[in-house]
Amino acid sequence: LERDNLFRKGHNIHVSGKNIPSPLGDFSELSSSYGCKAKLLRNLAELGFKEPTPIQRQAIPVLLSGRECFACAPTGSGKTLAFVCPILMKLKRASKDSIRAVILCPTRELATQTTRECKKFAEGCKFRIKLMSKQLVKGADLSKFSCDILISTPLRLKLAIRKKKLDLSRVEYLVLDESDKLFELGLLKQIDAVVKACSNPSIVRSLFSATLPDFVEELARTIMHDAVRVIIGRKNT
Ligand code: ADP
Ligand code: MG
Repeated sequence: LERDNLFRKGHNIHVSGKNIPSPLGDFSELSSSYGCKAKLLRNLAELGFKEPTPIQRQAIPVLLSGRECFACAPTGSGKTLAFVCPILMKLKRASKDSIRAVILCPTRELATQTTRECKKFAEGCKFRIKLMSKQLVKGADLSKFSCDILISTPLRLKLAIRKKKLDLSRVEYLVLDESDKLFELGLLKQIDAVVKACSNPSIVRSLFSATLPDFVEELARTIMHDAVRVIIGRKNT
């Protein structure tokens, strides 16, 4: 435990919460300690990722341990992989049964970019990673729609739930990315509709952000239970 704390200090990782899993020393621990498939690790190596970034070192083991998490780390510090990697590992293999994970992004541009990143990490793994596009929302009934990871803005997802019967009741992972922006943009109602539609009692929610204003943290606490808080550097810079 003392060793974990020293390691965190060295990487500017600040945590709070109960029983926080040890930070990752290396990506190889994903396979030795968490059974990560070789293909995923190979993808990271091929992308030139040699070492996990500080947010990845701590948020990945937290999510792999099934804990909810709210995380704050600067822009460009690798938050996407910090939530996509544990989701891909936990989902294990592709399945057509339901929508299994949802990532909410504040804008279409960010949703598109996140979809692209996810696909890079999952290259060659058969996972179906889908962007909630305009065509999808405009099209037919979505009650049978399934994919492994669905990425969307809150508005499009809310429309798909309300108007096209999109079923989120079996979602296992919900990520609110850039949550400071999500909340600032007045998207609370839409986010609330999505959070409610993700009614699986064993869902693991997480929130990632570049800043963590008090009001975001307060909102986060209303939707998460027993969450681990991970801050890299300082909270609002
Ligand atoms: P954030 O969401 O924190 O702003 P991103 O997830 O968009 O950051 O990552 C920023 C850039 O860093 C991306 O180009 C990504 O591919 C790259 N990156 C992520 N993790 C690593 C890593 N461990 N090593 C090297 N580059 C990384
Ligand atoms: Mg990001």
